[in-house]
Formats: sequence, structure tokens, C-alpha cells
Amino acid sequence: MGKARKKPSFSIITLGCKVNQFESETIAQELKLSGIQRIVKNKVPGNEKADTFIINTCTVTHKAAMQSRQAIRQAIRSNPDATIIVTGCLAQTDPDGIRKIKEVHRIVGHAEKYRIPEIVQSIDLPVTTSGPAKKHFQPNPPDKAAFSPFGNKTRPFLKIQDGCNTFCSYCIVPYARGRHRSMPVEDVLASVRIIKEAGFHELVLTGIHLGCYGTDLSPASHLTELLTVLREQKAIDRIRLSSIEPLEVTDELIDLVSASFTRPGHMCHHFHVPMQNGDDTILKRMNRPYGQKEYRNRIQAIHRALPDAAIGADVMIGFPGETDQAYQNTLSFIKSLPLSYLHVFPFSPRKGTPAYTFPDRVPPDLVKERSSEVRVLGNRKRMAFLEKHIHTEIEVLVETTPDVKTGRLKGVTSNYIKVLLDKHEGIENTFQKVLIQGLHDTQALVGRVLP
Ligand code: SF4
Repeated sequence: MGKARKKPSFSIITLGCKVNQFESETIAQELKLSGIQRIVKNKVPGNEKADTFIINTCTVTHKAAMQSRQAIRQAIRSNPDATIIVTGCLAQTDPDGIRKIKEVHRIVGHAEKYRIPEIVQSIDLPVTTSGPAKKHFQPNPPDKAAFSPFGNKTRPFLKIQDGCNTFCSYCIVPYARGRHRSMPVEDVLASVRIIKEAGFHELVLTGIHLGCYGTDLSPASHLTELLTVLREQKAIDRIRLSSIEPLEVTDELIDLVSASFTRPGHMCHHFHVPMQNGDDTILKRMNRPYGQKEYRNRIQAIHRALPDAAIGADVMIGFPGETDQAYQNTLSFIKSLPLSYLHVFPFSPRKGTPAYTFPDRVPPDLVKERSSEVRVLGNRKRMAFLEKHIHTEIEVLVETTPDVKTGRLKGVTSNYIKVLLDKHEGIENTFQKVLIQGLHDTQALVGRVLP
């Protein structure tokens, strides 16, 4: 399995969620600090090959797992002499499947993920596999390296929570990432200080189940308490939450966001609240701890307090037992809510979860048809939300990398609107007032920077 030489270059391929992205960047920074060159595909002409490939996998859906396997095979094909290290949720939940790909040198479970830089430099370290996820938050304490101005990010992620105890019937995550655990408050504050000192103006707080933040700490804390401290300490200009479960959108949290409109310590007017389904019977089978009524109540509470807030939702289509009536219930529920965008996923049976064996699977063609209808509805909602901002003045944080499709500068508002801008010297990574001129497409607005 192992090779004994030091590796002067590496490449890291990341699939899946923001937490994976954060963890990959942390690993990459540590490797770079150790003097190992990072090879980013197509960015080093003529030198795309790396000595070590790290594939940080995802298994949240069947497709994500398949893409993860493809990425492993692709890395092996293009770099037959490289050391291949596979980590992430697929490595944790299906190490035997990965072991069948004989060119893989190391499989590293979540518990050992933070040993990857060490493993890359000394590939003879004892073989690690996918042991149970650690009880405590990793890395602990946070590593300063993760926040030197990495990649081309303007709005870095900070993972402050990992794992989940909820066990929704379709979800592999609690098995892959283990139980809920939080980064200690003092470590969060230290990390945010580092991020600010590195010159960043916005921070995206991420976690697998962010709304549980702090409940496992001693003394116990909670998300609103942490955000209050960050705000009081003027820790950073803008704070965004990545995703928060409906019942964790408390009145206190909404009040805090409503009261935090000034910078530094501005809480972004953006809530991503997974709905998954709008039918009570399906929600129950999903083991989601709420029904239509509770979800509506939380969304309306946000909208009442912050009418300009972006409110996004994940919707899962084709869960076993989703009858025509249940689907129609979801559709009309979504129509009735002030949502500004949707992320639509087809149900994907994951081995090891209860829903894998549920009867009454929905035929794939019907899932496809329903998913595209909900996506169209999501686009309409997004357009309506964007259109409300035409001819208004809004503030954006200008990103350091231009828009991939148009090459234009782009900025993001507090309420998560992407605005394309004309070239302007030196405004990257600054807040700018912008006059919105119109729609670019269903995803973005076009604006002019005001003097
Ligand atoms: S809350 Fe449910 S869907 Fe989210 S990570 Fe936990 S088990 Fe999975």
C-alpha cells in the first residue's frame, strides 16, 4: 500500500458541502505551509500532475457517491504514479467499496482527517481507516493556517459544528460524521480574529447542524449567544449563517439578526432553512421534527421581521410514499411561502439509512418530472425576489475573483443576491454601494457602482 518518499506537490479534489470545502482548505493550507506545492488543475501550465492526490468525498446522495468514485478513478488515470488518499463521507461509510479500487493508497476516515498533512509527508505512518468520528470538535484548537488568504475566496467558511443527532430517515450524515459536537466559544473567537486580521470582511459560519451549536459544550452555549458575543466584539464586518433547521430559527435569532444591521457585526439578511417536504405525512416518514404549520410559522416570522431577507429552502422530491396528493401539497405549500430560492434534490436511497428499505418508491421518471416542475417554481420565486431590487441602491461586498461566465466583477449583498458590475480598479474585497440596473439572468442582477 504505502510509498516511502516525501511528496513535493499535491492536489485536492473536493466534492459535496461547505463543510467539506472548509476542511479541504484547512488541509491544503497546512500542506502549503509545510512547503508542499498545491497544484490547481489548469493553473500551472504544463505541470498539472501532482505527487499526491487527496479526494475529499461526499455520499449525501447516490449521485454524489458515484461522482466521488469517478473523481478517484479520474485522479488515478491522469496520475498513475501519484499517491492517492481518499477521505470524507464516502471514505467513512464505505471504506470496503473504496478498498476495491486497488490503486488507492490510504483511506482516511473523519476522525483522522486532520492527520492528512502528516500522512502526506510520511506515508509510512500506520494505516488509518474509517474509525468512529471523534467525540470532540476537530481541529481543536483551530489552526491559524486555515485562514491565511487562501484560494480566491472573499467570504471564507468557518466550520464551528460537526455531526448530527437527528437521524432523518433518509440521511447518511449522522453515520458518516458522527454525533453533534461544537467548536469551543473561545476557539471560534480566536478563529474569527485570525480571519479578520487576514483581511476578510465576511465570514460564513458552517456546520452540519449549525442550529445545535453549543448545546454540547460545558458550560452549554447556543448559536444566538455566540452571535451576540461576535457582534459585541465587533469581530468581523459581516456574518452569514450557512443553513439552519426550521425549529432552530428562534425568535431570539430573528431579533438578533434584525437588530444587527450595522457593520462590523452585521448579520446577513439571509436564512437557508431546509424544508425537505411540504406534506405532513412525508415529513413524519422523513423523521423531520416539524410539520407544515411549524415550518410556515418560522418562515413567516423571518419575513415579518425582515421583509428583504433572502429565505432559501432545500426540497427533496420523490421520497418513498410521495403520492400525487402529497406532491401537490408540497407544491402549493412552496407557492404560499415567501421563499426567494429553492435547492431541489431527488430522493436518493442511501444504504444504511431506514428510508433505504421503505416501500412505495416513486418511479424515476415521475421524480424527474416533479423535480423539474419544482425547479421552475424555484426560478420564478428567485426572479420575483431579484426583480424587487431593480432601480434600488444596495450594498455589495465585491469578490476578488470575477464571474466565471462573464468575466465581470461580481458582488454579493447581505441578502444573498449576486450583482454583476463593470470593471473598477481596486474595489475587490470592499463594500460598495450599487445602483441596480436590471436582471442579468435568473441568478443575478446587473448594477453600477455609485461614486
Ligand atoms: S438534520 Fe437530518 S438531514 Fe440534516 S444532517 Fe441531521 S440527519 Fe441529516
